[in-house]
Amino acid sequence: MRQDFYDRITKTIADIRDQGLEKIERQITSPQGPVIEVNHQGVKKKVLNFCANNYLGLADHPEIVKAAQETMNDYGFGMASVRFICGTTDLHRRVEKEIADYLGYEDSILFAACFDANGGVFEPLLEAEDAIISDALNHASIIDGVRLCKAKRYRFANSDMKDLRAQLEQADLDGARTKLIVTDGVFSMDGYIAKLKEIAALAEEFGALVMVDDCHATGFMGPHGEGTPAHCGVAKHIDILTGTLGKALGGGMGGYICASKDVVHLLRNRARPYLFSNALTPALLGATLKTLDLVRHGGHLREQLFRNATRFRELMTKAGFDLLPGEHPIIPIMIYDAKKAGAMAAELMDEGVYVTAFSFPVVPKEKARIRTQMCAAHTDEQVDEAVAAFIKVGKSIGVI
Ligand SMILES: *Cc1c(COP(=O)(O)O)cnc(C)c1O
Repeated sequence: MRQDFYDRITKTIADIRDQGLEKIERQITSPQGPVIEVNHQGVKKKVLNFCANNYLGLADHPEIVKAAQETMNDYGFGMASVRFICGTTDLHRRVEKEIADYLGYEDSILFAACFDANGGVFEPLLEAEDAIISDALNHASIIDGVRLCKAKRYRFANSDMKDLRAQLEQADLDGARTKLIVTDGVFSMDGYIAKLKEIAALAEEFGALVMVDDCHATGFMGPHGEGTPAHCGVAKHIDILTGTLGKALGGGMGGYICASKDVVHLLRNRARPYLFSNALTPALLGATLKTLDLVRHGGHLREQLFRNATRFRELMTKAGFDLLPGEHPIIPIMIYDAKKAGAMAAELMDEGVYVTAFSFPVVPKEKARIRTQMCAAHTDEQVDEAVAAFIKVGKSIGVI
């Protein structure tokens, strides 16, 4: 009987491999940055990195590294406790207050990851008589969090405002007490920004709350990097904002939920991934305080990031590549065919450019792509170098 189990696991792995869906993890042997050293077929090789969530280039910032080191000297390494037992330092509260202040909320609460924040946010706040209306392309962690909550579930087609209205009407017909609309601020496979202005207007019309997961936006979208609500001009209309410290905000790890004081207080008492999981390490928090300071004063980083995005878009479009339209530093190059996309990423690695191919089930069938992500630490020359490699490989594979 036990052997059946192990045979089944082996067979599942073989199926994943046969379908070309196996994830291979390449090993990096340097800090994360615009140029990284990787183990490429047993040889160390320096490559340009165009697939990190390191939008502001802060992952290896010397001041952040130093802040982490200094905090570790003062506070040691680990907390060895959940927050409410003996895991809360003054740093935890300072980071929570800084995040809330930056993003314009009364308070915030830290989690080990945004996956945990999204996993824990719904269940304490909503009950069976409530409704969650969720975008079909929302992040896996939102889908899981919604599953853990007893509220009725409604799904609207990605950014389809007609469908959102229909679902809100249905929730009303079903007698929903509280309605919560949930969306990613940016849909990461496409780099498309949620229609928050329209969503906020519908929320107003139907008396619904809005939650935005802004993992791919906080730090660089919006006038001062406050994210998609500010970018869309509806900063004051979003009730709950979740985000990560694992992307633009230094890329370490950790997640948070911004909301009203009482919502945060209830989450502190009831959110299971918070109550039953270890507190973030002091070094991470010291580094995050420095990161927030750099990000809040990081206008030049945001400028460079969007300059790189514009340059890459223009040069790639001129070269004949098919890009998804947009303004976000996620820039997908559509290849459509999964095998071609995979071959292209492999050849680009040989040419010294690290990018990743995405195919089904991460994106729809026949919509395979190379998803590039710009970084403020890329120079013009590095962007040009990447484009030159794309052109060479694109011609050899036959996509341009
Ligand atoms: C990355 C991401 C997450 C998960 O964040 P972690 O802090 O890495 O767990 C959640 N939601 C969205 C939209 C993301 O892009």
